[in-house]
Amino acid sequence: MTFEQLGLSKPLLQALAAKNYSQPTPIQAQAIPTVLSGRDLLGIAQTGTGKTAAFMLPSLDRLSANKPQVLRPGQIRMLVLAPTRELASQIAASAEAYGAQMKMSVGVIFGGVANQKSVRTVQRGLDVLVATPGRLLDLVDQRAVDLRALEILVLDEADQMLDLGFIHALKAIVRLIPAKRQTLFFSATMPKMIKQLADTYLTNPAEVAVRPAATTAERVEQQVTFVNQAEKTALLTMFFQDTKIDRALVFSRTKHGADKIVRFLEAGGIGANAIHGNKSQPQRERALGLFRSGEVPILVATDIAARGIDIPGVSHVINYDLPNVAEQYVHRIGRTARAGAAGIAVAYCADDERAFLRDIERLTRQKLSVVPLPEGFVAAVQAMKSLKPEPRRAPQPNQRNRRNESGARGHARDPQRMGLPRNDPRQDMPQGEERPRSDGRRRAPHPATARPHGERPAQQRTEHTHARPTTDHGRPQAGGQRQGSGGQRPAGNGGTRPQGTGRPGGGNRGGRPSGNRNSAY
Ligand code: AMP
Repeated sequence: MTFEQLGLSKPLLQALAAKNYSQPTPIQAQAIPTVLSGRDLLGIAQTGTGKTAAFMLPSLDRLSANKPQVLRPGQIRMLVLAPTRELASQIAASAEAYGAQMKMSVGVIFGGVANQKSVRTVQRGLDVLVATPGRLLDLVDQRAVDLRALEILVLDEADQMLDLGFIHALKAIVRLIPAKRQTLFFSATMPKMIKQLADTYLTNPAEVAVRPAATTAERVEQQVTFVNQAEKTALLTMFFQDTKIDRALVFSRTKHGADKIVRFLEAGGIGANAIHGNKSQPQRERALGLFRSGEVPILVATDIAARGIDIPGVSHVINYDLPNVAEQYVHRIGRTARAGAAGIAVAYCADDERAFLRDIERLTRQKLSVVPLPEGFVAAVQAMKSLKPEPRRAPQPNQRNRRNESGARGHARDPQRMGLPRNDPRQDMPQGEERPRSDGRRRAPHPATARPHGERPAQQRTEHTHARPTTDHGRPQAGGQRQGSGGQRPAGNGGTRPQGTGRPGGGNRGGRPSGNRNSAY
């Protein structure tokens, strides 16, 4: 099967050739003819399957076939709604690349940048607008966008949008769009709520599914190591010292946890950056840029920040904290093993995460292979205890990283820095003699004997409590249950708005998260 056979126009074929896409991916082969025919589409696919091109290529052809002479100010012809800034940027970049020969106007808007900039983006009208729901509603409020003549609506990563509490924002937006339109709806998973939403918005859709949501990419080699929560940093440091990686994504459940991991890795001589909701847009872009270029090939991310990130060449995904919703695991490990490459997914499972592991294995219908703690681990834990990572003064994308980076693909410049005598079997033995440490404190007792497995220092316990909030942005709770009123504005988010703004849909901001700045993620 070729792109030509799918019925795409010449300018698109040229753009695809320029990108060296020789063959359509399965979702493209299924979706492109359907979308070209004007039919609605329900796509069950996750990032990495080529779904962006699956909806963008045929849409561009349809838009170009009826291109009006001029657009009204603020007029949008195709709207793509995406849950995160990163995904929105990527989709817009793809649209520009695919539509390069067609003179299509493409714009992207999302929160975190000056509102005026977004207004300028849309003011002359656009063929394609990619937006996060919150920022789009801001512009609707200001009457800066005109959706009345919208021809194509795409909802990308619908499940993530619901998880992020965008449901009311979504509904408010769809109310402004003509019923006579083409709707393309994509979701990696299809729980009941998503199915209901799809039924509401789609008319007689064709369904394409490239992989059942519960099936994990077969090419990903999946491993789990059982380890105390407090000892995960030592394990991770050893991992990066001993393993050749191309690029590794490390998943932390919280923003605070992500920063802490970066500090510990740095203390062990390993350069890494964090990406999460507390980072500014330039910081995120910089961290992603350094990751993409391979200059800092370790990125520590929260699930929300990592959503939709599409970076080829991720060789390892480390589940530093196991996700409390099993589907999230599938999303995470889908970042590796792209485009035929083999990938490795490593999970660190603490005692109180075993239930999450069971959920994951049930969902994926696979047992993760158990990898024991590495030789020398006990000594590494001891050594880590003597390392005191300095808190960063400002959460800048780490300039030091580049200097720290040995360029040795994630290997520490100085593997001995943690005091690990390599290949010395004695390092696992408790020390017979306790030499006083330079700081005068006693050496930490042997972790395997001094502390029952799973028991953590108070600080660790506190963090973990943070990690599983009982109320949050309508996100799934542990055990997969959602808050009953999914999508309600989180309490105390500080995002109070004046009532009666004239917003369509009753002015209800509708649980639009006020950015992640106040959340643990
Ligand atoms: P997506 O699932 O849309 O995020 O796409 C995943 C990655 O696959 C992106 O880097 C695309 O540029 C790439 N891609 C999409 N379609 C193809 C194709 N037919 N051949 C090769 N790469 C592709």
